[in-house]
Amino acid sequence: MTASKTPSPVLVLFRDDFRLSDNPALHAACATGQPVLCAYVQDEACLPKGVIGWWLGQAAGALAEALGKRGGTLLTPEGETLPVVLDLVKKAGVSEVFWNRRYDPVGKEIDTALKATLTEQGVAVQSLSARLLHEPWAVRTGAGQPYRIFTAWWRAARELGEPGRPLPAPQAIQFAAVPEAFKKDVSAKALLKPALPEDATQAAQYWPCSEENADTILEDFLDDTLAHYETDRDRPDREGTSGLSPYLRAGLISARQIWQAARKAEARSGDHVNTEKFLSELGWRDFGWMQLFYEPQMPTRNLRSEFDGMPWQNDAEAFTAWTEGRTGYPLVDAGMRELRATGTMHNRVRMVVASFLTKHLLTDWRKGERWFYERLVDADPALNAMNWQWCAGTGIDSSPWFRIFNPVGQSEKFDPSGAYIRTWVPELAGLPDKLIHTPWKMDATLSRHLRFVPGTTYPHPIVELKQARAIALESYKNLKGAEKS
Ligand SMILES: Cc1cc2nc3c(=O)[nH]c(=O)nc-3n(C[C@H](O)[C@H](O)[C@H](O)COP(=O)(O)OP(=O)(O)OC[C@H]3O[C@@H](n4cnc5c(N)ncnc54)[C@H](O)[C@@H]3O)c2cc1C
Repeated sequence: MTASKTPSPVLVLFRDDFRLSDNPALHAACATGQPVLCAYVQDEACLPKGVIGWWLGQAAGALAEALGKRGGTLLTPEGETLPVVLDLVKKAGVSEVFWNRRYDPVGKEIDTALKATLTEQGVAVQSLSARLLHEPWAVRTGAGQPYRIFTAWWRAARELGEPGRPLPAPQAIQFAAVPEAFKKDVSAKALLKPALPEDATQAAQYWPCSEENADTILEDFLDDTLAHYETDRDRPDREGTSGLSPYLRAGLISARQIWQAARKAEARSGDHVNTEKFLSELGWRDFGWMQLFYEPQMPTRNLRSEFDGMPWQNDAEAFTAWTEGRTGYPLVDAGMRELRATGTMHNRVRMVVASFLTKHLLTDWRKGERWFYERLVDADPALNAMNWQWCAGTGIDSSPWFRIFNPVGQSEKFDPSGAYIRTWVPELAGLPDKLIHTPWKMDATLSRHLRFVPGTTYPHPIVELKQARAIALESYKNLKGAEKS
């Protein structure tokens, strides 16, 4: 009698897809019928610093718990992906490796080298599509080029039909034994790196981290908020958006799951307008990743090269005042303080603070992009860079330079009673609605009565809007002139 041979294990590499459901790599690995090893390599090259680094660690920890409940483990070895994976493959006798595709330049490079080496060594590799509604290369112009305008791209994307249906979580996972040398790498949630930056530790309380949390947030949004999405999404004083971006970023939920759930909600409510608006925002997410795929330098280089000669002033004091929420413009300061406290900021306010930094303070958008990247819990290399370039006017299909948001006008329009400002700038909380957007206009009598001293209790505006706007426009005009000569 010959002893039956134990089938060799297969390996699933998790990276920014920390979920069991709609996870094509995990699904395909389970479908082999072979025992499954799950790993998340803590590779410095892919681990961002700041709040997002902490968030990805939390999400990996949540996945480790979910696997633990099913009797499995998540290996979390530290080191460079290539040698770590090769070592694991060798020691566990892995015959096939699965992962969901990455589209950022560093991730792409690592995965290409890994695929080549594993294949060379006779280990099969399957990379699958999980992150986006459609692959970045799926939508092209008639001439085979990437689109540069969102509306045209979105129209063409819609012609591809509905995105693929999300996959269910595997019913049962047959886990492989952890090789002896890797037993030390089975991390509990708290052990995963990196920690929150010291001055951002408050953010932890805002972000419960698990796949179930993401599902609940989605359900609540579809039940309570979607019906007002088109109007309320611009209102920082209301719960007008889904709050799903951190969960999408860490892959605790997929875009396809959100899409399908929104379609089901639409079938129940018949609300086509709000649903389409919401789905088009997921479209912007895909559009951002398409841009990064074709323009890997997007986080550091102007996509419109005419801006390469822009005379940025980069005033260090003004930049610090902006980061600390001390510009004297209440909506800007509320947003920057919300960011520091929670790791997020409302989309409308992100646009206002980005416009203020780049145009009124004439600061290079890359400084703002970096600051956001370290502070946002949803910090995303494609979406952050695309949106900063959109706000600065340096991107493709971006807001033109001459469109300069007036932070007072935006405040009056989108936070009329100042509820949002009062939450994040407590020293303004007692001001009447009329003055909440322009506290420097307070007269002496009211100032005495409220014990509010403009310039002391709350800073005077660091720039005069009209003058700063004129300088910004002049800089741009000269820049264009220089280009022509
Ligand atoms: C300067 C600036 C920087 C930004 N940086 C990031 C970032 O690093 N990460 C990030 O996820 N978003 C970023 N955004 C886009 C947007 O602000 C957030 O996606 C949104 O605020 C997330 O909230 P929500 O999930 O409630 O959005 P919802 O309105 O509920 O939208 C649903 C989803 O659609 C996508 N989406 C919405 N708005 C946009 C947009 N403008 N561009 C691309 N996708 C969008 C997001 O994935 C979002 O979760 C940035 C915007 C600006 C103006």
